[in-house]
Amino acid sequence: MKKNYVFYLFFILLILLPCSKQDYTYIDKVKYEPSEIPEHKLSMVSEMGDTDHMNELLDNILIPRVVGTAGHKKVKKYIIKTMRDLKWHVETDAFEDKTPNLGTLKFENIIASLNPNADRFLILACHYDSKYFKDQEFLGATDSAVPCAMLINLAVVLDEYLNQIRSNNDISIKLLFFDGEEAFLYWNPQDSIYGARHLAQKWENEGFLKKIVSLCQVDLRTKPIMITILLRLQDMLVLLDLLGTPDPNFVNFFRNTQDWYVHLHNAEKRLAQMGFMERYSTSSVVSRTPNTYFQLSSVNSFVEDDHIPFLERGVPIVHLIPSPFPTVWHQITDDRKAIDMFTIENLNKIMRVFVIEYLHLVI
Ligand SMILES: [Zn+2]
Repeated sequence: MKKNYVFYLFFILLILLPCSKQDYTYIDKVKYEPSEIPEHKLSMVSEMGDTDHMNELLDNILIPRVVGTAGHKKVKKYIIKTMRDLKWHVETDAFEDKTPNLGTLKFENIIASLNPNADRFLILACHYDSKYFKDQEFLGATDSAVPCAMLINLAVVLDEYLNQIRSNNDISIKLLFFDGEEAFLYWNPQDSIYGARHLAQKWENEGFLKKIVSLCQVDLRTKPIMITILLRLQDMLVLLDLLGTPDPNFVNFFRNTQDWYVHLHNAEKRLAQMGFMERYSTSSVVSRTPNTYFQLSSVNSFVEDDHIPFLERGVPIVHLIPSPFPTVWHQITDDRKAIDMFTIENLNKIMRVFVIEYLHLVI
């Protein structure tokens, strides 16, 4: 991703598409509420962690994986196999695109769905390619091997509970592993987020992103019903990037998903109050009180990342990326030594609470 210093106005314009100019019934959004894990069960969620499995995932993903290389192919196959072994529906979005310096390359996004037939999805995303450097091998532990490992680990440790909604057609969960996030030369609109741009366009063409809008026409002849695209706000894309270094500092970037960001903050707070956050804020990367990763502050987003093509199409976004970026960002030192497994497991716990409560899983 890139820090973009051009001011972006990221206000989501909610366009209400009337089915009829006069006679319609307005169906307002029913606010989607998460469930709440009882306090006495938080320890269970906390203890579900499996650090050995996280390490195994990193052994397989944390290798140079520049698009077009053997390492990239190996990681791609590993992610696909792991998600298929979990009995998730896995499809890929393969395509070719021109790069400024390496010719035409083959890219392949990986889309894993618990139940592909569901109407709505909570989407958790990261990118699995690593950045190309001409004269050195870059591992990209935080960028983004750790986020990929976190998502797969989440699916593994929650497997038994996710089974509860395997046949639920109302809501489900998707894990997106984007390809080609990194620029090959200099970050610009053509040389960056290759996979995200392709998938967002594909989904738009296929009507996936417009599904709710089309419901608008259901009862057109009888009693026109206007269902606003606000309904789409019940679902969102949560993008994880640059995670793994100690004491990340998060802020809220988007007003329309602020409640969900605060929910993450509260999940962290509840876990911390119960003493489940390990080696919490052992170093002071930034000064803050009390010890929290998720700060209750909002800023406009200046970061270009895989969420952009979806944001532009009205998909609500939660961007979990440290602010400021880790000091190892795009440095050769972004390797296994840069990451802290205690911090990663703390984040895993927060994500588990979030997913369990969002999907109303019973534990
Ligand atoms: Zn990067």
